[in-house]
Amino acid sequence: MFRPALDFHRLYTTFNNPVTEVDCGQKCAPFSTRGLPVCCDICEAIPCAYDQEWQYLQTNTDHWHLWQESDCQQEFSAEISDYQVLIACQGSADCQREYRSISCRQFPFFPYITRDSRTLGLTYFWEFEPSCWVISNLHLVLPVFKLQFLSFYDQLFDQWPEEMESYAYLSENMRAYFLSKKRRIPILHRNGKTYLLSPNSERLQKIEPEKLQKFEPFAD
Ligand code: SF4
Repeated sequence: MFRPALDFHRLYTTFNNPVTEVDCGQKCAPFSTRGLPVCCDICEAIPCAYDQEWQYLQTNTDHWHLWQESDCQQEFSAEISDYQVLIACQGSADCQREYRSISCRQFPFFPYITRDSRTLGLTYFWEFEPSCWVISNLHLVLPVFKLQFLSFYDQLFDQWPEEMESYAYLSENMRAYFLSKKRRIPILHRNGKTYLLSPNSERLQKIEPEKLQKFEPFAD
């Protein structure tokens, strides 16, 4: 399928803000299996790149290579589309921040898509609730990060509508999971406010972000 060319140099430049003011890697690493920030541990969160993004990375840095089994001696599963590849870096100690993949920049968030196809705001990859400190501290997510995140995805969905479909599918999975747990979904809304969303009706209830649930081991 034809997909318009995206300028990943420009997209990287305009989606480069850290998620929080503090170095959140120092908050989660002490609790992780290998003592690494969880999203920088390719055995915990395998990075991926769009095919055009991978071309851009290959042209500009030798920091990344295609993910190989020998990169991580354990089983994993990763759902990616046919225009993405799994990649691995040289390690967080040698991180080249200007060449972080989009999957690194967005972590732990993804765009929440409603049943009627609106990009409501940010929500998070829920399987990382026990390992990502940011998820227990959503009140500390910087407004500029949220703006850059949404600007990136608005542009992406405009050019590559199939990507919006894949996040709509992920949002649907999240609704099913939260419904089964009788929980509501935290949303960092594009209007700047924070809400809990009913996975059944998608009704929003405003909440002070400081009052959102925290997860062990970050509950204190
Ligand atoms: S985003 Fe989450 S997992 Fe990644 S370094 Fe920050 S706290 Fe750790």
